[in-house]
Amino acid sequence: MEVEQVLHMNSGVGQASYANNSSLQRMVISIARPTLKESITEAYCNNKVFPECLRIADLGCSSSPNTLTVVSEIIHIIEAISCQRSNQQIDKSPAFQVFLNDLPMNDFNAIFRSLPSFYERLKKEKGDKFGTNCFITAMPGSFYGRLFPNNSMHIVHSSYSLHWLSQNIIEAESLDKFNMPLYFPNEKEVENVIQEEGSFSLQKLNAFETAWDTGFITIENSDKKYNDDDDKLERGKYISDYMRAGLESVLVKQFGETVMDELFQRLAYKVIESMAKEKWQHKNLVISLTKK
Ligand code: SAH
Repeated sequence: MEVEQVLHMNSGVGQASYANNSSLQRMVISIARPTLKESITEAYCNNKVFPECLRIADLGCSSSPNTLTVVSEIIHIIEAISCQRSNQQIDKSPAFQVFLNDLPMNDFNAIFRSLPSFYERLKKEKGDKFGTNCFITAMPGSFYGRLFPNNSMHIVHSSYSLHWLSQNIIEAESLDKFNMPLYFPNEKEVENVIQEEGSFSLQKLNAFETAWDTGFITIENSDKKYNDDDDKLERGKYISDYMRAGLESVLVKQFGETVMDELFQRLAYKVIESMAKEKWQHKNLVISLTKK
């Protein structure tokens, strides 16, 4: 079975959903935000004209509060540039057409359901006119294949999605053959791939690390006081939960649903044990490219 037919982050908004277990990714998006702003500002420097309709794609958008946060962030940045140019006249902003891309099994319906309130928020923040200036749609499919016509996108964003590989087949028979199709390249490897492929010029490549339990203190639990042991347990569970939200669909296909609770409970304890010995970090790469 191809991973692309199976993979999806846990859907809905329940306890085990990606929507509820994506605060680590949210932190990473917020750390990368200044780079996003810089890159877009540089791309539209020297009064480079905006198209009448600016087309934006988010590759691997998933379905969580992060999805629309990124969209509104990009809109915000463009609008700020365009306001500066035209002395606060918001109607000089381009129209926005946003393509949310993910694999077909992604919970696109959850995103669609949240669109009316998102448009409402935009209107409140930016005035009536703006509400009719933003058009969000979905583009299901794999970003390893062709998603859009040539030269049709102006800004393409992707966060925490490119570590999923396209080619690996999930073997059905045994644990030994189980293959989790993830790969985490280093800076040099990424740079080489970009150079060899040749379509893009590399503008920025910054790396930073985040602890595995980054994002653990959320608004919901920040007022609770844990003792040390509770704290460790909660952190282990936090990590295990976000791994579950991302990996469960692939693991279920291989090992069946019944062992999932037990598996992730054990993982939480393993995480606690190993975090006591070592400081575990995710390495994040923030990359900005322009098409040649
Ligand atoms: N960008 C979001 C989601 C990250 S989770 C955030 O930062 O919160 C990674 C997402 O990438 C998942 O929803 C997964 O389904 C998607 N993904 C993985 N491989 C993909 C591919 N080949 N094509 C499109 N989406 C893919």
